[in-house]
Amino acid sequence: MLLKNKNILITGATDGIGAQISKLYSSHGANIILLGRNEEKLNKIYDDIIENTDTKPLILECDLNQISDNGAKEIADAISDEYGVLHGLIHNAAELGKLTSLENYSLDDWDKLMRVNLTAPFLLTKYLLPSLKEADNGRVILTSSGVAHKGRAFWGAYSISKAALKTMQEIFSEEFEGSSSIKFFSFDPGATRTKMRSAAYPAEDPNNLKSAEDLNDYYLWFFSKKSNQKEINFISFGDSL
Ligand code: NAP
Repeated sequence: MLLKNKNILITGATDGIGAQISKLYSSHGANIILLGRNEEKLNKIYDDIIENTDTKPLILECDLNQISDNGAKEIADAISDEYGVLHGLIHNAAELGKLTSLENYSLDDWDKLMRVNLTAPFLLTKYLLPSLKEADNGRVILTSSGVAHKGRAFWGAYSISKAALKTMQEIFSEEFEGSSSIKFFSFDPGATRTKMRSAAYPAEDPNNLKSAEDLNDYYLWFFSKKSNQKEINFISFGDSL
């Protein structure tokens, strides 16, 4: 019960890694705020958590593609009203978008992807900071990728969004260093068996990939005392903690 009475928001909680972390954290006693765009999938995860744990989950139905300044404020107000304090914010939702050359990337596709992968983490973090400041050792995890470090041909706006997200984490980390116990981490989960991975690598045999459950130790580590001492804020699967 490492996470008993901790309140943690997970974006993209309906599938893949986000769904797994929702189960993991609630099994350790956390109240999970499940943010997703699909009502049916949200209800399924919510019911599963209610059935198997003694925690207080909350559903926030939101298509991050449509997020606005007011929408992000409303989400922050809803969380503050329900829980008062937020201990963790896991920016996990992302879209892969089109794997095509930048020359052929349309503005519409660019805008949609950037809103989900980059604007949403910025706005949600900004408006949730007051609730995060109420926690001892609040955590913000921005989900990264191997294509954040070096642009890769045909990975378009996805690669650019992940590089920018890493910069966002670095800026937040510096701005809060020394003045707050909140820590901001980038985490690259590495190749993991999910629907996004299958969309990116359709010819790959998913059975050769690790499952989202194999990431459990990393996601628990972020809320452990050991993470307070960590100097490096970019963690990749395979790094020793
Ligand atoms: P996934 O299985 O496709 O899950 C993505 C989640 O994000 C789903 O819950 C999806 O909702 C949600 N989402 C997408 N667009 C959304 C929107 N507009 N509004 C709200 N929610 C939205 O992908 P995953 O592999 O678990 O990816 C999780 C994170 O890990 C991502 O940030 C990804 O970039 C990163 N990552 C993954 C890998 C990998 O190999 N899997 C490697 C490196 C990094 P629906 O259920 O409605 O589709």
